[in-house]
Amino acid sequence: MEMYDLRSCTEETLQTVCGELGLKRFRAAQLFQWVQQKAVRSWDEIKNISTKDLTLLSSRLNFYPPELVTERRSIDGTRKYLFRLQDGEMIECVLMDYARELTRDRHTVCVSTQVGCAVGCAFCATGMEGFRRDLTIGEIVGQVLDVTHFIRQEDQDFQVTNVVFMGMGEPLLNYEQVLSAIMLMNQERGLNIGMRRMTISTSGVVPRIIQLAKDNPQVGLAISLHASNDLARSRLVPMNRRYPLAQLMEACQEYAKITRRRITFEVALTDDNANLGEAEALARLLKDHLGHVNLIPVNPVAGTDLKRPNLEKLKKFAHHLEVGGISVSLREERGADINAACGQLRRQWREGNHEPIDSI
Ligand code: SF4
Repeated sequence: MEMYDLRSCTEETLQTVCGELGLKRFRAAQLFQWVQQKAVRSWDEIKNISTKDLTLLSSRLNFYPPELVTERRSIDGTRKYLFRLQDGEMIECVLMDYARELTRDRHTVCVSTQVGCAVGCAFCATGMEGFRRDLTIGEIVGQVLDVTHFIRQEDQDFQVTNVVFMGMGEPLLNYEQVLSAIMLMNQERGLNIGMRRMTISTSGVVPRIIQLAKDNPQVGLAISLHASNDLARSRLVPMNRRYPLAQLMEACQEYAKITRRRITFEVALTDDNANLGEAEALARLLKDHLGHVNLIPVNPVAGTDLKRPNLEKLKKFAHHLEVGGISVSLREERGADINAACGQLRRQWREGNHEPIDSI
């Protein structure tokens, strides 16, 4: 008989399983809340369901929690987690915790959607290692549940408010799982994270951008743009060879037309490309788009010669975009002291170049 991963189950799936086991419907609601709202990782933590019923449920459902390999804490509050999945593969996820800053109350988790990545962006440690496999719905949602679980050991009221699909992998190449995970995290009796508080970041999988606009116009979209012309972009983001800028920009127009939502264009700035000419070219490329530019100074990645631009260069670049009529923000640097950029910690760990496991 089919065994289900509890963390991938909607309340409706649990109702079906309960029905098949001869259990009352309310058991499904209770179980769903324990798994998705209280973020438990084992049967032992469930308190209001009898041992007899739990034994019955465990004949069809199971937890497949990953092992927490390490947790790194940055001085700015960012935490980075390295998890080992059931098959031994390792993934990263990051909590960007803004709650301790006076003006904000935001806990954003950046999740992975694949083990490794086939896209191979020039600045990305994950891309350097190639693609291994897609993550399941339970493994995607599980990252948010596990962060919640571990932080609640220190802060019982902790609640993730935002999710960004910007970790390891190209989310739109694992489309079905990512969309199902979003629906699950949105459920009111579960994590209850608003659709508009979840953002998918893509390297530019054009057909999926249009499909996303039709399938889920509520969820946010970010494009890893990084360059204003095909030559430079194809070097940085190889997806551009398949879907060049003209096609990507057309898809963005279509997306905005359907959803009426503003797209975030992410631009990683290195010491090389943070110049006036590039700022002007970007402003020309984006001037008719419903969008916002997020400038990201690159974190240094071992194995690349990319250098981070200094603050003065960054500010000048942002200013030129604004003068060109583009809405722009400069992403704060977060977690640089803990290798928070995508794939860095996993890579370091696999190479055996790490410190002892940090306690939680
Ligand atoms: S930046 Fe994203 S899409 Fe590009 S290689 Fe890394 S994980 Fe893949």
